[in-house]
Amino acid sequence: MTPEFTRHLEEMLAEIAAQGLMKRERPIASPQGVHVTVEGRELLNLCANNYLGLADDPRLIRAAAEAMERFGYGMASVRFICGTHELHLALERRIAEYLGKDDAILFAACFDANGGLFEPLLGAQDAIVSDSLNHASIIDGIRLCKAQRHRYPNGDMDGLEAALRAARESGARHVMIATDGVFSMDGFFAPLPEICELAEKYGAQVMVDDCHATGFIGPQGRGSPHRAAVDGKVDILTGTLGKALGGAIGGYVAGPQAVIEVLRQRARPYLFSNALPPAVCAASIVAIDIAEAGDDLRERLADNARYWRDGLAALGFELLPGEHPIVPVMLGEAKAAQEMAARLYDLGVYVSGFFYPVVPKGLARIRTQMNARLTRDDLDRGLEAFAAAGRAMGIVS
Ligand SMILES: *Cc1c(COP(=O)(O)O)cnc(C)c1O
Repeated sequence: MTPEFTRHLEEMLAEIAAQGLMKRERPIASPQGVHVTVEGRELLNLCANNYLGLADDPRLIRAAAEAMERFGYGMASVRFICGTHELHLALERRIAEYLGKDDAILFAACFDANGGLFEPLLGAQDAIVSDSLNHASIIDGIRLCKAQRHRYPNGDMDGLEAALRAARESGARHVMIATDGVFSMDGFFAPLPEICELAEKYGAQVMVDDCHATGFIGPQGRGSPHRAAVDGKVDILTGTLGKALGGAIGGYVAGPQAVIEVLRQRARPYLFSNALPPAVCAASIVAIDIAEAGDDLRERLADNARYWRDGLAALGFELLPGEHPIVPVMLGEAKAAQEMAARLYDLGVYVSGFFYPVVPKGLARIRTQMNARLTRDDLDRGLEAFAAAGRAMGIVS
């Protein structure tokens, strides 16, 4: 590497550090769970996407271990060459059935599902209308697609209608609305009934990324379209196997047969990236079975979210309103979020500060997330730590 290029990178890192935006990773030395071992200490984990607590569930571990014993470690091929295992097809059928869609297609991650979705389906004559708070992978997927782009302010239905009208006025052939079902930084639900109504009015397709909903939101955990009773009107769903459904790796698109078929032929992250390991597929099927029958888990998760939210509010923290198990504690500047996370770490609570570029400047926060397996004792311990850290920083009295 040339010295100039090294200096360029070092300056970039110094700038990130000076702004308090440097991210530090703290390695876990135990399974992912409600309690984790980090740097020799046991911490209460309040920042995993492990909503149903399945990441270390013995049933998933057994299913994965058995599949690995029977079918080996890896596929060493993309799907269309020789990487398709029977377990891939079984998982795709199970996902489609669970979500009420014709079919589903697996990707290495939902980042790839969103990254590969738009480009094969839409061309330069078409338009995509996208919520401003959509996940980075949707934004990147749209960038890779030649369709015209329209953006509307988060959840703003007048903005959505204006964008749809603009798309129609510019002569777009096909129009697709793209939105997160739940916005991951805030825990806000997209207004799906209104979105579907506008889609009907303007003849648009609806795509929903339900990563922060599938498995634990709506009846049987089927996600935000089912919660809003518009599952029949949401055409395309994307989601992850890396959050509530076991937390390992993998993503998918579920939708009409023609969509899935076109993606199998044309989606670049599907064609040019390795197939999921059989063990992940076997355990994911078990995770869906557990989620589908998991009303008790969902009840405890919702209960925990209420208790935690009420507890933080009573302490005087500024929260974003809502009922999702994502509970963001708003702290303003990145440095405050960093300091708060560091203090909580010292007090035995594992949380992470979120700041630019993952949220806008000035809206730094600690995103806490609930898990069905957290007990009242755990949550009380968490509230005590938040109270102590908040008081030490003069944020609460
Ligand atoms: C986590 C997340 C993704 C990425 O999922 P991976 O499977 O981890 O790549 C995509 N979209 C949303 C809304 C997410 O929250």
